[in-house]
Amino acid sequence: MFNISLKDNSVMQFDEPLSIFDIALKISDSLARNACCALVNGQPKDLRTILSNDCKLEILTFNDEWGRAAFHHTTAHILAQAVKRLFPDVKLAIGPKTADGFYYDFDGQFSLEDLDLIEAEMKKIVKESLPIDYFELDRQKALELMKNEPYKIELINNLPMDAKISFYRQGEFTDLCAGPHIMNTKFVKALKLTSIAGAYWHGDEKNKMLTRIYGTSFTKATDLNDYLEKIEEAKKRDHRKLGRELDLFTILDEAPGMPFFLPNGQTLKNILIDYWRKIHKANGYKEISTPMILSKDLWIRSGHWEHYKNNMYTTIIDEQDFAIKPMNCPGGILVYKTQLHSYKDLPLRLGELGIVHRYGKSGTLHGLMRARCFTQDDAHIFMTPEQIKSEIKNVIDLIDEVYSLFGFKYHIELSTRPKDSMGSDEQWAEATAALKSALIEKNLEFKINEGDGAFYGPKIDFHLEDSLSRTWQCGTIQLDFQLPEKFALEYIGADNEKHCPIMIHRVVFGSIERFIGILIEHYGGRFPVWLAPIQVKILPISEKFNSYAQNVFDTLNKNAIRTQIDMRAEKIGYKIREASLQKIPYLIIIGEKEVNTNQISVRSHHNFTTTIDEFIKNILQLQ
Ligand code: ZN
Repeated sequence: MFNISLKDNSVMQFDEPLSIFDIALKISDSLARNACCALVNGQPKDLRTILSNDCKLEILTFNDEWGRAAFHHTTAHILAQAVKRLFPDVKLAIGPKTADGFYYDFDGQFSLEDLDLIEAEMKKIVKESLPIDYFELDRQKALELMKNEPYKIELINNLPMDAKISFYRQGEFTDLCAGPHIMNTKFVKALKLTSIAGAYWHGDEKNKMLTRIYGTSFTKATDLNDYLEKIEEAKKRDHRKLGRELDLFTILDEAPGMPFFLPNGQTLKNILIDYWRKIHKANGYKEISTPMILSKDLWIRSGHWEHYKNNMYTTIIDEQDFAIKPMNCPGGILVYKTQLHSYKDLPLRLGELGIVHRYGKSGTLHGLMRARCFTQDDAHIFMTPEQIKSEIKNVIDLIDEVYSLFGFKYHIELSTRPKDSMGSDEQWAEATAALKSALIEKNLEFKINEGDGAFYGPKIDFHLEDSLSRTWQCGTIQLDFQLPEKFALEYIGADNEKHCPIMIHRVVFGSIERFIGILIEHYGGRFPVWLAPIQVKILPISEKFNSYAQNVFDTLNKNAIRTQIDMRAEKIGYKIREASLQKIPYLIIIGEKEVNTNQISVRSHHNFTTTIDEFIKNILQLQ
């Protein structure tokens, strides 16, 4: 006899071992129909898992993150099955789930027309209602089964010698896979292949370029349509496309992954930085700036060399090894060490807009969102143990203030100790408890990511949601007991003894460049007035009105309103069309009537006529 406790705290008793799917059937037909996988004592498990001991069971559907993952992963298998039916010579690599769907990497070439064929075949496989079975093989039999799939052979050979090797089979198709999977292909009611791209095997450009086919799937056609509409909108708003069209930034072959900011983009960046400085000053931060190149010895001492060297750029100066900073922390710590500190000076909040360089494989780069060089809006807070909770709460409030300004909703995740980490169990427990209690006292909901913390401490991540309901991880707050010890940091306590401070690492925007990328897509390039690189464009109807237009321009410019003027001898309709493509908040049209009445005509969300003084007053209020 064993007990299964369910999410609603009810308990089911069983005498004989049985599968999670059978338990779902006993609860209700509709749960069995919608079940995708389950959490057993918090661990994701396949519905086919046999239970025989007491445990906590949560059966998951498409509406749960892990449930959706199993559903999407099954759709990836359907994709691979369809490809094998149509193109038997194509070799299979891997097919994981993504944030909103799945992909599968194939060794073979496909055209866009092929995608239509493949999608049609996938729909056939769904109609065939193929049951999906699980089985395990020993290494030798697994290698034999996959003998025509060289990538699978490599994957099997990379598994530990004693690993059980698991497979899933649907109809004639079998794939090496750890699961979990749903029970039958028939549940994938709505699917779509969304794009095709090149991808290196293992993401390494030394390896062969494979073809990656992306797709997504839903339980209902209406959900798929909603999703596809959002994708269309996201394409229109792609920050790389808008970055070009609005002259914000560019990335050139001369510096892969390292953006060049053009005048409009730099203006936007400076506005964000000005705002950042203003709110940090108001919140008791001091600003510092530390060198970009620091000695290898420093990185060894900080632990970055051991844990992070594969992402670091290095250089040699006077026969000594240096590294270009991937993080600002050691620099901030050296600044702390330049002075003696008393407990009365703490908390010490040192902000730094530090440019960091982190190597990422070329396949992972994506405009401003994933770059090799970016500005972190970093700060390090040095404090006594008693100050931890209140400081964490202050940072939470600051992040909330910033995200609200841009109209972002957000959710919070707490990441705990990873495998590859420094420090004692007690320190990790204490640090994790401090973060948790700050969140609980702020009445904030949060999700726990086990094992996802930094190597030196647990962290709180802020995932903001943009206007297309996509989420982006931006702000983080990390608590760190390790680095202050490694660098022997000190302050003199009230007891006149030396103590080691505790550190917070935190960012609000995260990377300023990436935040700009998110803002571009969030606003679709139509920035609010205070943020718009060009706020006003003046368009005289003909040359006759150029001098009046120039006066208007000079007056706006004197009032620090970011203004452009278009005095070309083009038709006014043409000038207006061009200016609206630039998504400038206000266009001012100057013609006969405006000159005679000493006014301006403004085109914006609505059109109106006003005096220059009135217009300036209104804009300055929006700054
Ligand atoms: Zn740091």
